[in-house]
Amino acid sequence: MAPSARSAGLTSIERVSDNADPPRVRVTLPGGTQVPGKLIRWRQAPAGQWWAQVVIQIPAGVVVQIADEDYASVPREPAAPQLVFRPLRHDAPDRRALELHVAGCWGATGRLTPTTAEAAAHFVKHGWAVACTTCQPPIAAP
Ligand SMILES: [Zn+2]
Repeated sequence: MAPSARSAGLTSIERVSDNADPPRVRVTLPGGTQVPGKLIRWRQAPAGQWWAQVVIQIPAGVVVQIADEDYASVPREPAAPQLVFRPLRHDAPDRRALELHVAGCWGATGRLTPTTAEAAAHFVKHGWAVACTTCQPPIAAP
């Protein structure tokens, strides 16, 4: 008597996986590089060998798309712009001690300090920093 998928608990295992964050693993790529991943499931092949279904994140540049595959529905998750403070040489009422930039702005050079959108808005509101007029960092209005 073979158990059904439901009585074997497979359905409940999948439900748990859907709701829980999969456990982290390290995956060794050809060449020896290790990358972090999430273990989705163990699956045994008919010959007995176990395989792991793993989700890994790798640089997009190493992904080779296959002709005739449709990638239009693959979600894109752009990162929120990273904000940075650049210290200014002089502090004056018309030019404060810190300048706020979006990371990657041509004016964001030298020793940069990453910051949050909340802190950036606070610094600009109180006049401790000025927003770069070139990259116009997105900050909440005071
Ligand atoms: Zn800028």
